[in-house]
Amino acid sequence: MIGSADVVVIGGGIAGIGAAAMAAEGAKVVVLEGEAHIGHHSTGRSAAIFIRNYGNAALRALNAASAPLLEAPDGISDRSLLSPRGELMFATMADLPALAAYADGAAGLEHLNADEACALVPILRRDRIAAAVLERDAQDIDVDRFLQGLARMLRARGGVIETGAQAAAITRVGGVWRIETAKGVIEAPVLVNASGAWADEVARMAGIAPIGLVPMRRSAAIIPAPQGRDITRWPLFVPASEGFYAKPEAGRLMISPADEDPVPPHDAWPEDMVIAEGIARYEEAVTIPVTRVERTWAGLRSFVPDRTPVVGFAPGAATLDGPRFLWLAGQGGYGVQTAPALSRLAADLILGRAPALPAAVCAALDPARLA
Ligand SMILES: Cc1cc2nc3c(=O)[nH]c(=O)nc-3n(C[C@H](O)[C@H](O)[C@H](O)COP(=O)(O)OP(=O)(O)OC[C@H]3O[C@@H](n4cnc5c(N)ncnc54)[C@H](O)[C@@H]3O)c2cc1C
Repeated sequence: MIGSADVVVIGGGIAGIGAAAMAAEGAKVVVLEGEAHIGHHSTGRSAAIFIRNYGNAALRALNAASAPLLEAPDGISDRSLLSPRGELMFATMADLPALAAYADGAAGLEHLNADEACALVPILRRDRIAAAVLERDAQDIDVDRFLQGLARMLRARGGVIETGAQAAAITRVGGVWRIETAKGVIEAPVLVNASGAWADEVARMAGIAPIGLVPMRRSAAIIPAPQGRDITRWPLFVPASEGFYAKPEAGRLMISPADEDPVPPHDAWPEDMVIAEGIARYEEAVTIPVTRVERTWAGLRSFVPDRTPVVGFAPGAATLDGPRFLWLAGQGGYGVQTAPALSRLAADLILGRAPALPAAVCAALDPARLA
């Protein structure tokens, strides 16, 4: 028997641990994670990049609101979670409209010509670059330090993380949720659904209408540095068509096919053909072919149709006398970099505080829009 709490969070990824750590400031919080370790699914498989201009207007607002905490993670880590990387987006003649669409409304972009782009990433094929933009303040995120720091903050505030505790059944009993796990039963008046790709399954279990979440597989491969070059300072580089992206990773190069294949929620793995096709698109853009793939992996990026996260109490389940159900889902490919702002919003809603985020951003995230 695990007992009772003010808040039960289902999901020990960056979303669940972040929201729990921040809500634990004013509530007794228990996180249930089905796996043996936190961060096992999407959170542990990301490309670990912060890109301020990534995503639609609501996401750009969340990115901006998240940057200060990533830079100065008080109570989470003793130093910045970010380190310099940069993002270079380049376009062929045919892809110029896509580059212009990305640059539209984006802050802090430098426009580069082909020579300047090749000076940053010397293996790019100069003849295929019509124009490029550099986002200098795109930065690497130390995801593990972020996640473990949040977990420490949660525990220091009296919160509990139960691993190996898959939520298997959820019922309403009076004013509380009753959640059954292999480790026992826990009851709480507030349930936070931070279960990543499984969020619609968890909602159905609780009798809450699903939000139409679609998990999409995204794969990655690690190759040795091209011809043994020192690639440490190369930026992430991506064609405006987004047919792949590549990023230095501890002296090696990570290449993602930038795949978005809809799949059921599961422990994702990469398909050889998807990796091969992504590497072929990479090889079209560079002068040095891939000779060896060292390892591959895949994870799930889960989206609702408007590709904006879903954060807020489920409509109809928000009455004060009944148990309340908070959505914290649909973070897509932005869940690590937006975790500071989304965790804070979840905590504000749980603790009944006025949200720190602007009302228009909160409205864009509200699950009521999907009803
Ligand atoms: C290849 C790849 C690259 C990416 N790159 C970036 C990037 O550069 N920057 C960025 O910001 N984002 C990136 N993302 C997206 C980011 O990883 C996700 O948005 C984020 O990790 C989602 O976090 P989460 O906590 O919602 O999900 P998860 O980390 O998947 O956590 C959900 C957890 O819920 C648990 N769970 C599910 N059901 C139950 C249940 N019934 N009971 C108990 N536990 C349950 C699962 O076991 C899981 O641990 C990338 C994703 C991928 C796959």
